[in-house]
Amino acid sequence: MNLAKGRSTFDAVYSEIRKLSPDHHFEFRDPFWVLITTILSHRTKDEVTDAAARNLYKRYGTCESLAGADYSEVSGLISKVGFYTRKAERVIEVSRILRDRYNCRVPETIEKLMEFPGVGRKTANVVLADAMGIPAIAVDTHVQRVSRRIGWSLSDDPEATEERLRKIVPRDMWLGFNPVLVEFGKHVCKPITPNCTVCGVRPYCDFYREERSKAHAGKRRADSRSRS
Ligand code: SF4
Repeated sequence: MNLAKGRSTFDAVYSEIRKLSPDHHFEFRDPFWVLITTILSHRTKDEVTDAAARNLYKRYGTCESLAGADYSEVSGLISKVGFYTRKAERVIEVSRILRDRYNCRVPETIEKLMEFPGVGRKTANVVLADAMGIPAIAVDTHVQRVSRRIGWSLSDDPEATEERLRKIVPRDMWLGFNPVLVEFGKHVCKPITPNCTVCGVRPYCDFYREERSKAHAGKRRADSRSRS
């Protein structure tokens, strides 16, 4: 899909996506806890991430408290998340930097956020958009997959996808865009078997069009074999 088509059909496509996306559950809205939760979330299911973040919140509650936490206790509290040993180190380190350099106030720019260990563009954009209301588009695995299938993105590189989405998605829609696509990706446009039969995006979707052409070509080949 070219950029002009992506832009001209965006409203219709996004409205179909929203119809099929349940409300997103936000475990936290406070910037510090959104940051910690997003660090924990890498390669981990949402339910597991949320439970681990709740454990930390109940035990420590504040940036100051987590900054002074004991590593073995933190790793025990988050032991169900992927790469929990490294993430335990990270959340303590991030809390310490925040306490020592920022008086526990999470900075409000992507550049400053990305200076923290373990914080990439996706995490920084999640914090900006979901916790601070600053327009940003976070490209996680769901946003990447859905954007690629529809044809909004032509790349498997999340950074290139973000750049392209910034040109297609009107700026006043950036807030909430990630959570809507996450739910759509979890419930409809799933990783292995997208549920295209219920999806109103079909008329606009590159993936659906290509799969249908392949199926038609296969059927034509099978028909001609059975006639010969
Ligand atoms: S038509 Fe299928 S592949 Fe395209 S967005 Fe919908 S579910 Fe995903």
